[in-house]
Amino acid sequence: MPINATHDASIKSWVESANDPATDFPIQNLAMCAFEVSHGGHSHEHIGVLIGDQVLDIGALLEANAFNRQEHEEVAYVLEMMRWDIVASVPGMMTKVREVLQWFLRSDTQMGQQLKRIRQKALIPQSEVKFVPAMAIGNYTDFYASVHHATNVGSMFRPDNPLLPNYKHVPIGYHGRSSSIVASGTEIKRPRGQQSPPEDQPGALPSFGPCKMLDYELEIGAFIAPGNRMGEPIAIKDARAHIAGLCLLNDWSARDIQKWEYQPLGPFLAKNFATTVSLGIVTLDALEPFRARGYERGEGDPTPLEYLRDEDDAKSGGFDIKLEVLLRSREMATRGLPPLRLSLGDFGSMFWSLGQLIAHHTSNGCPLQPGDLIGSGTISGREASSRGCLLELTWQGIGPDKKPLPRKPIQLPTGETRTFLSDGDEIIFRGWCEREGFRRIGFGECRGTIVAAE
Ligand code: MN
Repeated sequence: MPINATHDASIKSWVESANDPATDFPIQNLAMCAFEVSHGGHSHEHIGVLIGDQVLDIGALLEANAFNRQEHEEVAYVLEMMRWDIVASVPGMMTKVREVLQWFLRSDTQMGQQLKRIRQKALIPQSEVKFVPAMAIGNYTDFYASVHHATNVGSMFRPDNPLLPNYKHVPIGYHGRSSSIVASGTEIKRPRGQQSPPEDQPGALPSFGPCKMLDYELEIGAFIAPGNRMGEPIAIKDARAHIAGLCLLNDWSARDIQKWEYQPLGPFLAKNFATTVSLGIVTLDALEPFRARGYERGEGDPTPLEYLRDEDDAKSGGFDIKLEVLLRSREMATRGLPPLRLSLGDFGSMFWSLGQLIAHHTSNGCPLQPGDLIGSGTISGREASSRGCLLELTWQGIGPDKKPLPRKPIQLPTGETRTFLSDGDEIIFRGWCEREGFRRIGFGECRGTIVAAE
């Protein structure tokens, strides 16, 4: 999938907002999305692409018979299924869809009056759309691919030996739950759960109630399509051909519940109450100009085993994506204050590439299916300012008495403080790619507001 004419930075759209230099969704992006459409009391889902501050409704284009040119026939046939996971499973189809939709959206395409009317009708403001996740997600797996995150979290539990001996050999992950994955903007109800007995009260019992240590995790999600057959692993050199695109992902985490439940089988109810994904999936086609080197292993680091090693993956298996996390408390919103930036980092700091995660996931023959979602794990960089969750951001290390120092709260402009999330807090992720000579593209936002447990 080389850089081609669709990446030309000079292409403009007739959708004015797509030409705004600040937009995440210029005509060079065309992120996949899906949303609810109501017709006379019943509703169904349409797919579309994000363009400027609008959605191009592919269902409306099909209904209006807009794909009436011969060279559009094959694309229209596949889009009729109204499922991005199916579209992306047809080899080479995403590239063709991208070319055809760009043809519709370019300002310099010659088309008749009828088609001009259709294209206007197929445009809906994003603010008026009820989005759902862009692909029907069958399975969800979450990894732990940032060595900085793993080291920081490990040092909370094992200050002398933060990184477990397996970390640099085997990508660590767990199977999550797809039923609680929601689109950006959906409210997140504070979970209830079982929490450990207080450490300073011998003989005390665990308790059950609203989570007291609610956190977010900044992650990138990779949507799989096509999948692989059971028993037939995806070789690392082929892994990128199985990624339809990327999104922002918030793996909401209940730290107090997690701490008590996670041994010996790993995360369970601390994670599966909610996961938020951004509205659009940015295709690998759109991301092509922003490929980057993978993590460069240091001197003492082991060479990965053969099945996790590939020259191309090492050279260009990473993505240069800037990532920002912001928080706005209810009081900040009431006072009209802008959200506060909590961190700024980038996806290039991940120890394991997405290709390695996919090769590992399928190495035992596990079948990935179109629409499966792979979470990268919390993205933390080397610097404290790039830590991807509150658990790390408010951590101050271990004191001379070998006990953890008190957490350092984050100061909000209202005078409020936070070590973990309060009811009414809104967490916003943003992500974008920039490179000289190319149009900046972005991921939009991944937002969620915490509402009280009942
Ligand atoms: Mn996670």
